Amino acid sequence: MTRTKRVVVVASVVLVGVMLYLWGRSDGLVGRSPGLSDVAVAAEAETDKFSPVKARARDFYTPNSEDLLPDEMRLIACGTGMPTARPKQAASCWLLELGNGDKFIFDIGTGSAERIAAMQIPYNYLDRVFLSHLHTDHFGDLDALFVGGALAGRQKPLRVWGPAGDTPERGTKYALDHLYKALTWDLDGRAGITDPRGYQPFDVTEFDYKGVNEIIYQENGVTIRSIPAIHSLDGPVSFILEWNGLKFVFGGDTYPNKWYAKYAKDADLAIHECFVAVPDMITKFQFTPQSALAVGTQIHTAPEAFGKMMSIIKPRMAVAYHFFKDFDTTGPIYDRIRTTYDGPLSLAEDYMVWNITKDDIRVRMAIYDEDVWPPPATEKPQLPDPSLRIPYSEFIVGGKYDMKDVIQPTYDEINKKYGLNEKQED
Ligand SMILES: [Zn+2]
Ligand SMILES: [Zn+2]
Repeated sequence: MTRTKRVVVVASVVLVGVMLYLWGRSDGLVGRSPGLSDVAVAAEAETDKFSPVKARARDFYTPNSEDLLPDEMRLIACGTGMPTARPKQAASCWLLELGNGDKFIFDIGTGSAERIAAMQIPYNYLDRVFLSHLHTDHFGDLDALFVGGALAGRQKPLRVWGPAGDTPERGTKYALDHLYKALTWDLDGRAGITDPRGYQPFDVTEFDYKGVNEIIYQENGVTIRSIPAIHSLDGPVSFILEWNGLKFVFGGDTYPNKWYAKYAKDADLAIHECFVAVPDMITKFQFTPQSALAVGTQIHTAPEAFGKMMSIIKPRMAVAYHFFKDFDTTGPIYDRIRTTYDGPLSLAEDYMVWNITKDDIRVRMAIYDEDVWPPPATEKPQLPDPSLRIPYSEFIVGGKYDMKDVIQPTYDEINKKYGLNEKQED
């Protein structure tokens, strides 16, 4: 190899390395495994910091391991995928934590409750849910948070904000009244056994889906507004949260719309749906070409349209979701977005975390404990009233197999340990 050729080869390798580095950094594509160039750059910067006994800075987030600063927002993607939830991606769900202690859940799609659980946040703090619309991939796990959260320490009603429909039957209140009714057997069976406070009916606040940038929530220095969205039927909305000089936008499903273009402008972080690319909907999701075009570009936002919208609103960080993010779909989605947008971009996947301050937006992945148990309750549980217990029929009680002899030692153990005098049921 001549000297000139060698220089060209070396220069090309360096250039590709730098490009890969920038690509990974700006797009959130580098998740759990950093590229080679990342390692090289990090190693160079940290050479004199190495120590055989001291830990170095970590580039991932572990739940319950970091204080939130008073001026900081932390956003965690608890669902970024499709109505057909899969192990890697639950459906739409976003957990936003503020430095003033407030926590908000935007959408709670199918499969997302376990991602919320992984964040190890006491359930008493997780009592506020905002629904963009009533597709199951945006509220399908509300029952799981409602019952599971009450069981694990939410000692107050679950508050839910969502749009009124164009008819009462298409509104949030109707949906949640009926969801509560659907849980009759579940809730009746818990009466008189557990702290009843979290199982009260949903505390629903409905608002006009046609409201344009109207305030739907204002507490503790936090203002949330809604704007209409265009999706499936009249009714869906998007949300804009402002707190402490920071602006966070959560876009629910929509065809690109003028309200988002106007009111999401200059957001610190703006989430907007970015649907599966049409060719992948046909070949991987088995849609017909006709319905892939209709669903992927008219009911939802195509990647190129997502990019165009972000070029209009110019957020400090654009976040794309609502596609299956795989090794062979990520590149095409990215390329399509980049035909219309060249700003900061995260292609979201479940457990991606953003720490947002006025000076910085840090994007990482969370590493969580699969064996997580609920965190301790923030308040003492209230003892239930046993007289509220709904008894079994005589027929069912008559079917009990006699196990008293093998269960009694557990009663003895617990009564002794906690100074109680509990007795087995007849
Ligand atoms: Zn939808
Ligand atoms: Zn959706």
